[in-house]
Amino acid sequence: MIKLLNLEKNYISPTGEQLKVLHLERLEISDGEFVALAGPSGSGKTTLLNIIAGLSAPTKGEIWVYKQPLHRMSERERDEYRARTVGILFQTFNLLPGYSALENVLIAMSFSSKVPSGQRRRRATDLLERVGLSQRLHHQPRQLSTGQQQRVALARALANRPALLIADEPTASVDFATSNTIVDLLEESCRNDGSTLLTASHDPLVLGRFTRTIRLTSQGSVDSNFADWQSSMTSRPPHFD
Ligand code: ADP
Ligand code: MG
Repeated sequence: MIKLLNLEKNYISPTGEQLKVLHLERLEISDGEFVALAGPSGSGKTTLLNIIAGLSAPTKGEIWVYKQPLHRMSERERDEYRARTVGILFQTFNLLPGYSALENVLIAMSFSSKVPSGQRRRRATDLLERVGLSQRLHHQPRQLSTGQQQRVALARALANRPALLIADEPTASVDFATSNTIVDLLEESCRNDGSTLLTASHDPLVLGRFTRTIRLTSQGSVDSNFADWQSSMTSRPPHFD
Protein backbone atom coordinates (compact mmCIF):
# COMPACT_ATOMS: atom_id res chain seq x y z
CA MET A 1 0.00 0.00 0.00
CA ILE A 2 1.12 3.52 -0.83
CA LYS A 3 -0.46 6.12 1.44
CA LEU A 4 -0.09 9.90 1.23
CA LEU A 5 -1.48 12.20 3.94
CA ASN A 6 -1.53 16.00 3.61
CA LEU A 7 1.47 15.79 1.37
CA GLU A 8 2.95 19.07 0.17
CA LYS A 9 5.92 19.88 -1.98
CA ASN A 10 7.21 23.41 -2.35
CA TYR A 11 10.13 24.54 -4.46
CA ILE A 12 12.02 27.78 -4.15
CA SER A 13 11.80 29.54 -7.49
CA PRO A 14 14.94 31.12 -9.01
CA THR A 15 13.60 34.52 -7.84
CA GLY A 16 13.35 33.27 -4.25
CA GLU A 17 9.57 32.78 -3.86
CA GLN A 18 8.01 29.62 -2.48
CA LEU A 19 6.38 27.65 -5.26
CA LYS A 20 3.64 25.31 -4.04
CA VAL A 21 3.55 22.57 -6.64
CA LEU A 22 1.81 19.68 -4.91
CA HIS A 23 -0.90 19.44 -2.25
CA LEU A 24 -2.55 16.07 -1.79
CA GLU A 25 -4.83 15.56 1.21
CA ARG A 26 -5.14 11.83 0.97
CA LEU A 27 -4.25 9.26 -1.61
CA GLU A 28 -4.06 5.49 -1.33
CA ILE A 29 -2.84 2.99 -3.87
CA SER A 30 -3.26 -0.72 -3.16
CA ASP A 31 -0.63 -3.38 -3.74
CA GLY A 32 -0.65 -4.67 -7.29
CA GLU A 33 -2.75 -1.77 -8.65
CA PHE A 34 -1.91 -0.30 -12.07
CA VAL A 35 -2.38 3.46 -11.76
CA ALA A 36 -1.91 6.20 -14.34
CA LEU A 37 -1.24 9.78 -13.28
CA ALA A 38 -2.69 12.28 -15.71
CA GLY A 39 -2.91 16.06 -15.68
CA PRO A 40 -1.58 19.05 -17.55
CA SER A 41 2.10 19.75 -17.97
CA GLY A 42 3.43 21.32 -14.77
CA SER A 43 0.71 19.80 -12.54
CA GLY A 44 3.28 17.95 -10.45
CA LYS A 45 3.23 14.41 -11.87
CA THR A 46 7.02 14.07 -12.00
CA THR A 47 7.33 15.72 -8.59
CA LEU A 48 4.91 13.19 -7.09
CA LEU A 49 6.60 10.20 -8.76
CA ASN A 50 10.01 11.41 -7.55
CA ILE A 51 8.71 11.64 -3.97
CA ILE A 52 7.19 8.14 -4.12
CA ALA A 53 10.45 6.85 -5.67
CA GLY A 54 12.41 8.36 -2.78
CA LEU A 55 14.34 10.65 -5.12
CA SER A 56 13.12 13.77 -3.34
CA ALA A 57 11.61 14.52 0.06
CA PRO A 58 8.19 16.10 0.65
CA THR A 59 8.09 19.55 2.25
CA LYS A 60 5.25 18.53 4.60
CA GLY A 61 2.99 15.58 5.31
CA GLU A 62 3.36 11.84 5.37
CA ILE A 63 4.18 9.27 2.75
CA TRP A 64 4.17 5.57 3.51
CA VAL A 65 5.22 2.98 0.95
CA TYR A 66 4.82 -0.64 2.05
CA LYS A 67 4.75 0.61 5.67
CA GLN A 68 8.01 2.52 5.23
CA PRO A 69 7.77 6.19 6.32
CA LEU A 70 9.64 8.02 3.55
CA HIS A 71 8.92 11.42 5.14
CA ARG A 72 11.07 10.42 8.13
CA MET A 73 13.99 9.05 6.14
CA SER A 74 17.38 10.63 5.52
CA GLU A 75 18.61 10.83 1.96
CA ARG A 76 20.75 7.76 2.52
CA GLU A 77 17.80 5.79 3.94
CA ARG A 78 15.78 6.79 0.90
CA ASP A 79 18.58 5.49 -1.35
CA GLU A 80 18.40 2.16 0.47
CA TYR A 81 14.59 2.14 0.26
CA ARG A 82 14.84 2.76 -3.48
CA ALA A 83 17.30 -0.09 -4.04
CA ARG A 84 15.06 -2.41 -2.00
CA THR A 85 11.65 -1.47 -3.29
CA VAL A 86 11.52 0.59 -6.48
CA GLY A 87 12.28 0.22 -10.18
CA ILE A 88 12.28 3.44 -12.18
CA LEU A 89 11.80 4.04 -15.87
CA PHE A 90 12.58 7.64 -16.84
CA GLN A 91 11.34 9.45 -19.90
CA THR A 92 14.92 10.04 -21.05
CA PHE A 93 16.18 6.56 -20.06
CA ASN A 94 19.22 7.74 -18.00
CA LEU A 95 21.38 4.84 -19.15
CA LEU A 96 25.09 4.95 -18.36
CA PRO A 97 26.61 5.88 -21.73
CA GLY A 98 29.99 4.15 -21.32
CA TYR A 99 28.50 0.76 -20.48
CA SER A 100 26.81 -1.98 -22.49
CA ALA A 101 23.15 -2.94 -22.19
CA LEU A 102 24.14 -5.94 -20.05
CA GLU A 103 26.40 -3.83 -17.81
CA ASN A 104 23.67 -1.22 -17.31
CA VAL A 105 21.37 -3.94 -15.93
CA LEU A 106 24.16 -5.55 -13.85
CA ILE A 107 25.18 -2.22 -12.30
CA ALA A 108 21.58 -1.64 -11.15
CA MET A 109 21.67 -5.07 -9.48
CA SER A 110 24.88 -4.20 -7.64
CA PHE A 111 23.00 -1.51 -5.63
CA SER A 112 20.70 -4.12 -4.10
CA SER A 113 21.11 -7.50 -2.50
CA LYS A 114 17.77 -8.73 -3.87
CA VAL A 115 19.38 -10.88 -6.56
CA PRO A 116 22.30 -13.01 -5.28
CA SER A 117 25.52 -12.14 -7.12
CA GLY A 118 25.85 -15.63 -8.62
CA GLN A 119 22.47 -15.24 -10.38
CA ARG A 120 22.85 -11.70 -11.69
CA ARG A 121 24.35 -12.35 -15.11
CA ARG A 122 21.75 -15.01 -15.90
CA ARG A 123 18.88 -12.76 -14.79
CA ALA A 124 20.21 -9.69 -16.65
CA THR A 125 20.56 -11.75 -19.84
CA ASP A 126 17.04 -13.19 -19.39
CA LEU A 127 15.56 -9.72 -18.86
CA LEU A 128 17.24 -8.34 -21.97
CA GLU A 129 15.95 -11.34 -23.89
CA ARG A 130 12.47 -10.71 -22.52
CA VAL A 131 12.53 -7.17 -23.95
CA GLY A 132 13.77 -8.48 -27.30
CA LEU A 133 17.43 -7.49 -27.05
CA SER A 134 19.22 -10.85 -26.91
CA GLN A 135 21.27 -9.75 -29.94
CA ARG A 136 22.24 -6.41 -28.36
CA LEU A 137 23.69 -7.39 -24.96
CA HIS A 138 27.07 -5.79 -25.62
CA HIS A 139 25.93 -2.65 -27.43
CA GLN A 140 26.37 0.69 -25.68
CA PRO A 141 23.42 3.11 -25.56
CA ARG A 142 24.67 5.25 -28.48
CA GLN A 143 24.76 2.10 -30.64
CA LEU A 144 21.08 1.45 -29.93
CA SER A 145 17.91 3.03 -31.31
CA THR A 146 15.77 5.14 -28.98
CA GLY A 147 13.22 2.35 -28.62
CA GLN A 148 15.97 -0.16 -27.84
CA GLN A 149 17.43 2.19 -25.22
CA GLN A 150 14.03 2.43 -23.55
CA ARG A 151 13.82 -1.38 -23.52
CA VAL A 152 17.25 -1.60 -21.83
CA ALA A 153 15.98 0.94 -19.30
CA LEU A 154 12.93 -1.28 -18.71
CA ALA A 155 15.13 -4.37 -18.18
CA ARG A 156 17.17 -2.31 -15.72
CA ALA A 157 14.05 -1.09 -13.89
CA LEU A 158 12.93 -4.71 -13.42
CA ALA A 159 16.38 -5.97 -12.43
CA ASN A 160 15.83 -6.14 -8.67
CA ARG A 161 12.25 -7.46 -8.83
CA PRO A 162 10.81 -4.21 -7.48
CA ALA A 163 7.54 -4.30 -5.55
CA LEU A 164 6.82 -0.89 -7.10
CA LEU A 165 7.56 0.09 -10.68
CA ILE A 166 7.48 3.81 -11.47
CA ALA A 167 7.46 4.97 -15.07
CA ASP A 168 7.49 8.70 -15.88
CA GLU A 169 6.16 9.30 -19.41
CA PRO A 170 7.65 5.98 -20.56
CA THR A 171 6.40 6.34 -24.13
CA ALA A 172 7.05 10.05 -24.70
CA SER A 173 10.33 9.55 -26.56
CA VAL A 174 9.51 6.47 -28.61
CA ASP A 175 7.41 5.69 -31.69
CA PHE A 176 3.94 4.18 -31.66
CA ALA A 177 5.00 0.56 -32.19
CA THR A 178 7.61 0.78 -29.42
CA SER A 179 5.07 2.48 -27.13
CA ASN A 180 2.84 -0.57 -27.49
CA THR A 181 5.73 -2.92 -26.73
CA ILE A 182 6.77 -0.90 -23.69
CA VAL A 183 3.23 -0.86 -22.25
CA ASP A 184 2.81 -4.60 -22.95
CA LEU A 185 6.12 -5.36 -21.21
CA LEU A 186 5.33 -3.10 -18.26
CA GLU A 187 1.96 -4.75 -17.71
CA GLU A 188 3.19 -8.28 -18.23
CA SER A 189 6.17 -7.88 -15.91
CA CYS A 190 4.16 -6.24 -13.14
CA ARG A 191 1.41 -8.84 -13.41
CA ASN A 192 3.94 -11.71 -13.27
CA ASP A 193 5.76 -10.23 -10.27
CA GLY A 194 2.63 -8.88 -8.52
CA SER A 195 4.20 -5.39 -8.59
CA THR A 196 2.37 -2.11 -8.26
CA LEU A 197 2.70 0.01 -11.42
CA LEU A 198 2.58 3.78 -11.29
CA THR A 199 2.91 5.73 -14.51
CA ALA A 200 2.63 9.39 -15.47
CA SER A 201 1.57 9.87 -19.03
CA HIS A 202 -0.17 12.01 -21.61
CA ASP A 203 -0.37 9.08 -23.95
CA PRO A 204 -3.97 7.83 -24.46
CA LEU A 205 -2.50 4.45 -25.33
CA VAL A 206 -1.01 4.26 -21.83
CA LEU A 207 -3.96 5.80 -19.98
CA GLY A 208 -6.36 3.45 -21.79
CA ARG A 209 -4.67 0.38 -20.35
CA PHE A 210 -4.73 1.17 -16.65
CA THR A 211 -7.27 0.21 -14.01
CA ARG A 212 -7.26 3.63 -12.36
CA THR A 213 -6.42 7.13 -13.49
CA ILE A 214 -5.60 9.82 -10.96
CA ARG A 215 -5.75 13.26 -12.49
CA LEU A 216 -3.87 16.18 -11.02
CA THR A 217 -5.12 19.74 -11.45
CA SER A 218 -2.86 22.56 -12.57
CA GLN A 219 -2.61 23.47 -8.84
CA GLY A 220 -1.12 20.08 -7.99
CA SER A 221 -4.14 18.55 -6.22
CA VAL A 222 -6.18 15.48 -7.11
CA ASP A 223 -8.96 16.47 -9.51
CA SER A 224 -12.08 15.28 -7.67
CA ASN A 225 -14.27 16.06 -10.71
CA PHE A 226 -12.49 13.34 -12.58
CA ALA A 227 -14.10 10.05 -11.63
CA ASP A 228 -11.89 7.00 -11.50
CA TRP A 229 -12.20 5.25 -14.75
CA GLN A 230 -12.19 1.50 -15.02
CA SER A 231 -10.43 0.31 -18.11
CA SER A 232 -11.12 -2.51 -20.42
CA MET A 233 -8.74 -3.48 -23.16
CA THR A 234 -10.88 -1.88 -25.84
CA SER A 235 -12.23 1.30 -24.28
CA ARG A 236 -10.58 4.66 -23.95
CA PRO A 237 -10.48 7.12 -21.06
CA PRO A 238 -13.03 9.95 -21.17
CA HIS A 239 -10.39 12.67 -20.68
CA PHE A 240 -6.80 12.92 -21.60
CA ASP A 241 -4.39 15.62 -22.65
P1 ADP B 1 4.68 17.56 -14.61
O1 ADP B 1 5.54 16.34 -14.51
O2 ADP B 1 3.25 17.30 -14.25
O3 ADP B 1 4.79 18.22 -15.93
P2 ADP B 1 6.54 18.68 -12.63
O4 ADP B 1 6.37 17.84 -11.42
O5 ADP B 1 7.73 18.42 -13.48
O6 ADP B 1 5.18 18.61 -13.51
O7 ADP B 1 6.58 20.19 -12.20
C1 ADP B 1 5.59 20.79 -11.36
C2 ADP B 1 5.92 22.24 -11.16
O8 ADP B 1 7.07 22.37 -10.34
C3 ADP B 1 6.22 23.02 -12.43
O9 ADP B 1 5.57 24.26 -12.32
C4 ADP B 1 7.73 23.18 -12.42
O10 ADP B 1 8.08 24.38 -13.04
C5 ADP B 1 8.06 23.19 -10.94
N1 ADP B 1 9.38 22.58 -10.65
C6 ADP B 1 9.74 21.29 -10.92
N2 ADP B 1 10.99 21.03 -10.47
C7 ADP B 1 11.43 22.18 -9.90
C8 ADP B 1 12.66 22.57 -9.23
N3 ADP B 1 13.66 21.69 -9.07
N4 ADP B 1 12.76 23.84 -8.76
C9 ADP B 1 11.75 24.71 -8.92
N5 ADP B 1 10.56 24.41 -9.51
C10 ADP B 1 10.40 23.18 -10.01
MG1 MG C 1 6.75 15.33 -15.88
